Amino acid sequence: MSTIQHLINGDLVSSGDRTADVFNPSTGQAIRKLQLASRETVQLAIDAAKAAFPAWRKTPAAKRAQVMFRFKQLLEQNEAKIAQMISEEHGKTLEDAAGELKRGIENVEFACAAPEVLKGEYSRNVGPNIDAWSDFQPLGIVAGITPFNFPAMVPLWMYPLAIVCGNCFILKPSERDPSSTLYIAQLLLEAGLPAGVLNVVHGDKVAVDALIEAPEVKALSFVGSTPIAEYIYSEGTRRGKRVQALGGAKNHAVLMPDADLDNAVSALMGAAYGSCGERCMAISVAVCVGDQVADALVAKLTPQIKSLKIGAGTSCGLDMGPLVTAQARDKVSGYVDDGEQAGAKLVVDGRGLSVSGNEEGFFLGGCLFDHVTPQMRIYKEEIFGPVLCIVRVESLEQAMQLINDHEYGNGTCIFTRDGEAARLFCDEIEVGMVGVNVPLPVPVAYHSFGGWKRSLFGDLHAYGPDGVRFYTRRKAITQRWPQRASHEASQFAFPSL
Ligand code: NAD
Repeated sequence: MSTIQHLINGDLVSSGDRTADVFNPSTGQAIRKLQLASRETVQLAIDAAKAAFPAWRKTPAAKRAQVMFRFKQLLEQNEAKIAQMISEEHGKTLEDAAGELKRGIENVEFACAAPEVLKGEYSRNVGPNIDAWSDFQPLGIVAGITPFNFPAMVPLWMYPLAIVCGNCFILKPSERDPSSTLYIAQLLLEAGLPAGVLNVVHGDKVAVDALIEAPEVKALSFVGSTPIAEYIYSEGTRRGKRVQALGGAKNHAVLMPDADLDNAVSALMGAAYGSCGERCMAISVAVCVGDQVADALVAKLTPQIKSLKIGAGTSCGLDMGPLVTAQARDKVSGYVDDGEQAGAKLVVDGRGLSVSGNEEGFFLGGCLFDHVTPQMRIYKEEIFGPVLCIVRVESLEQAMQLINDHEYGNGTCIFTRDGEAARLFCDEIEVGMVGVNVPLPVPVAYHSFGGWKRSLFGDLHAYGPDGVRFYTRRKAITQRWPQRASHEASQFAFPSL
């Protein structure tokens, strides 16, 4: 079995660290070993980044952008290989893996615009012979800690932008599916990135704590579950670091009585069961306004859920692969048990699914609950699996109250033909990303991504314009060239016009 190494200062490094197994969730077999970095290994990466920073910081933004442009080309040339690597360790279908890579490439494209986005702001003659400008300068060494569910896209939300802004980056990918993440980082070096500007250390809490505690690391970007996001935010900010920590979710779709139900059902199927529900923007609650909508929705969803094509992620033409680990599968099954015991109506039961030829894989079929109430655990908590809960309400106001009362506020959407209802929803819903007849409103790369409430800790959203602000600090410069012949007296009052 091969061992996955760290990428430090341009080289693959074996450091005799602890190891963990990486599984193929479709077969249930351990397929690789992964090195788990010690504090000393993390320090090697920090030292490499520190050495690379002075020259990288001074490299013109246009040259940094050229590296990103070559990186984009390499990512496109290797799309099939990367999708295969993602599917093999994550379990998602090949088409889904290719989709996440494309959304990641959009972020590289945005990073190619570095000379434009780093231009700063200039004001001439703010006073007599005085000009002022704001510059956006890099922070130094920044680190990213990423989740298993998007091993290509989420790291690409972070380091292309951080690096193009002149920073050096240390990435700690998920220990569940690190191969595609590492390979993509190697492609950036192949594109011409100097050694040490991007380093990858694999690992667990030990590596993350070393990054949090290192004084050289100026900022942390985290994406993962809410308890870990909170931990990293509080430990990082306590040490004076800039932190953006994106956490978990419970995303509601509101179905109004006037919705185009057939289209809403198609959208919900993909949004609830795509990637086995392992998406932070997955729809996990359908809020039906009126019993008629709910009854019709259940009738239309049931046969479609029962006929989902489920199999090994790396085969073609499937709807859903396995969950990422046996523990994840068992946890989601546990929620289904819990929902039944709490009195929700289990309309479709995906437990106990066996896939022929892959009997050891971590599979679970699609599940559908009706008559779910806000007091139930299956409503309150993030399940992160192929389970959709239907909650019945009587009005749009009730639906919105439900969503606004939920502790998470990542994404939500409304299906309606009524512009007034849609506008009210967009204005008053307390959620960071909102769709109108769009089930997964993940912003494009030139906007920014982030939830509200306990779905994000920090002041700025990820990537796009907020990403540029997160990875840079503003320097305001005021400059005067007095005319040679003039002499000015001391001024003791605070300078003003
Ligand atoms: P996770 O929180 O278990 O792991 C995320 C990262 O944190 C990994 O790199 C992991 O190694 C590290 N980690 C785990 N335990 C740690 C600890 N005790 N101390 C320090 N670091 C630790 O999340 P996951 O299971 O990989 O991903 C799924 C979660 O991520 C879900 O909750 C999902 O909603 C969330 N997610 C959120 C977004 C978003 O944008 N809001 C995007 C993707 C995923």
